[in-house]
Amino acid sequence: MLRGRRVLTLVPGVEGEALWWRDGRIQGVGSARAMDRQAPRQLPRFDCPEALITPGFVDGHTHFARWAMGRRQVRLAGARTRAEAVARVASGAPSQGWVVGHGWDANGWTDPPDRHALDQVHASPVYLDSLDVHAAWANSAALAVARITRETQDPPGGRIARDAAGEPTGLLLERAVELVAKVVPAPSTEILDEAMRDAQAEAHRLGVTGIHDVEDERAWRSFRRLEESGELRLRVLFHPPVASLPDLIRRGARSGAGTAWLGMGGVKLFLDGSLGSRTAWMLEPYEGSRDRGMPITGEREAGEAMRAAAANGIAVTVHAIGDAAVRRALDLLDGLPRAALPHRIEHIQCIHPADLSRAARSGIVASMQPAHLLTDIPLVDRHWGGRGRGAYAFRSLLQRGTMVVFGSDVPVASIDPREGVYAALERKGFDGSPRTGWRPEEKIGFEDVVRGYTTAPAHASGTSRRLGTLGRGAEADLVAWAVDPAAERGDGEAFRSGRAVLTVVGGSPVMHR
Ligand SMILES: [Zn+2]
Repeated sequence: MLRGRRVLTLVPGVEGEALWWRDGRIQGVGSARAMDRQAPRQLPRFDCPEALITPGFVDGHTHFARWAMGRRQVRLAGARTRAEAVARVASGAPSQGWVVGHGWDANGWTDPPDRHALDQVHASPVYLDSLDVHAAWANSAALAVARITRETQDPPGGRIARDAAGEPTGLLLERAVELVAKVVPAPSTEILDEAMRDAQAEAHRLGVTGIHDVEDERAWRSFRRLEESGELRLRVLFHPPVASLPDLIRRGARSGAGTAWLGMGGVKLFLDGSLGSRTAWMLEPYEGSRDRGMPITGEREAGEAMRAAAANGIAVTVHAIGDAAVRRALDLLDGLPRAALPHRIEHIQCIHPADLSRAARSGIVASMQPAHLLTDIPLVDRHWGGRGRGAYAFRSLLQRGTMVVFGSDVPVASIDPREGVYAALERKGFDGSPRTGWRPEEKIGFEDVVRGYTTAPAHASGTSRRLGTLGRGAEADLVAWAVDPAAERGDGEAFRSGRAVLTVVGGSPVMHR
């Protein structure tokens, strides 16, 4: 039994200050006194009289294995200059022969990412993912291993940056990233599984009880191994890459199939790039430029993959950031057969206002990452200008009836849901600016934000009957948050300065402090 200040069940008409569970299922919600009478004596009792109790938070877009491994690599997030990034790389030690890092963001640097700067600190190959994972920075040794020379042609949908003399600079964009990524030694299964266990504990510490993961077969196999050894204590909906579609069809994989822990989502395909790399595909050119970004997958290729998936009971999970990519996604989703799980658009960072009603009619899930706002506000203003009206349009999407799932895109942003809740409520940076919030008309209320992390991901994963709320019979996946009640009135700072004090998954406390 757990007593708090208030249980936010998200079931209409069901409320209380306490609840109890047995055999992993909620048995009752109500007043502390009534629950105390109902709950059998032998059950453990948790007393958090100040806490707000919510269903467990699900992160609707993660690259969990990448994050788990990244926690063991050189971290470049927040490096304000190239010199600062290089200094951090210098202190990194090679593992399996390579120095690997992630999280750099050259927006605001005066010196561009360049291989020579890395050559000066490591003779071993160096490979560094950008914060938005749409670019990579490699040193000369890494380029040599990948056999990238001045003769190497840009792959379709990618670009090898070159200097005035035509030599690769070490900066790789979009699909060119894979040229080096594929030669970086993969971690052993022991290293990976160990990193996944650590990362799972960190997720629990932050109140995260489930994830919608967007990764490849190796991550899937790691989740499977953890499940088989009884250690998986996150509800995982897994979205494999479109490259595995033929294999998935051959094996008869279906969206919505799986176990109580690990379920099959949709196949992930990319229609465009990212705002940070200015590769998000826009209907009109970027402000002050003639460049509109780029479609990463052609219309025919994307359409064929989506039809093949849907015809075989597999939903599609489409990455679309720019307004042109979102429109293309809606075009392609129009008339696509439904799978057991809804099709979804990942990010949907900029939608043309004319497409809002269409998005609602299509029945798609909009999977969005409010914490990206924290870094994107100045970029949206600079690159998209007035089109920012359709950026992070939470309220407009919800009002018209689109299901909005919230996530972090970890490691692009922190998996800590407090940051996403803050961003969705306040629409301002951690420094509090702009004071009234950026495009404040798109702010949403606390309960809607919580739904984005609970009931909405349950709907998207086809698990609404057992997850996402705290009604009787639901699985006991829940979090007790020590937060000031002002959070429930929409004060994002109040939520951000609180913390999870108890996390329960499947009835078992996985974190308590
Ligand atoms: Zn992502």
